[in-house]
Amino acid sequence: MSVIIIPVIAFSWGVTGHRVVSEIAKNHLTNKSKREIKKIIGNESISSWANWPDFIKSDTTHTWDHTSTWHYVNLPSNLSKEAFVAALQQLPAENLYSQIIAMKNQLADKTLSIEQRRTALIFLIHLIGDLHQPLHVGRGEDLGGNRIKINWFDKSTNLHSLWDNALVDFQQYSYTEYASILDIADKNQIAAWQNSSLEDWFYETYQLANKVYESVPTDLKFGYRYNFEFKKDLDNQLLKGGYRLAKVLNDALK
Ligand SMILES: [Zn+2]
Repeated sequence: MSVIIIPVIAFSWGVTGHRVVSEIAKNHLTNKSKREIKKIIGNESISSWANWPDFIKSDTTHTWDHTSTWHYVNLPSNLSKEAFVAALQQLPAENLYSQIIAMKNQLADKTLSIEQRRTALIFLIHLIGDLHQPLHVGRGEDLGGNRIKINWFDKSTNLHSLWDNALVDFQQYSYTEYASILDIADKNQIAAWQNSSLEDWFYETYQLANKVYESVPTDLKFGYRYNFEFKKDLDNQLLKGGYRLAKVLNDALK
């Protein structure tokens, strides 16, 4: 018997993080993808939809409650890659991994209605972002860091929320500024990040999650030093998320 615990405390990459990922992706879409996306969401920007799957958690009609488990997977720490992938593929119910695959298939399926493909597109934009927030591939016992109470400068928060919001906001960029500052990787690097498998992407994020768990300061005080230690990882996650979102959309819409 299993107990399903739904983290209700934090969302996922705050609004800025998700928009940075989608804004970078926008720069790497094929012309075909751009045309197909226009047929689905018109002139609206993909970045304007990047946070909708979090906003609907507050829909009092509860229309979307079944999607609340789609934003994360929970796995024990420090598994080998083989054990990790096996566990990932055997997770029960609908989760971040199963739904990225499902949404990609639905977006690619032209026999579905535009409305269904629109929902699939919007979830993909969001979920590829979540996949790159390390604590969305975190441990179950602490709800992906939500139960690890910490201080960010003089404010009390938790480890999950720190990675969703505070660390991103601390950089003090708008999402378009952040995207243009990050989006300078060379072709070979972009190809390497894009052409690894979905399971590789999950494992990379998981390895970063392990590092995040191991790097919690004993006094639980986070600030300048933590930013210095993890800024490169944060930037790389947003950047990889952007390139990989472009790859997933290009594959689904070709
Ligand atoms: Zn999310």
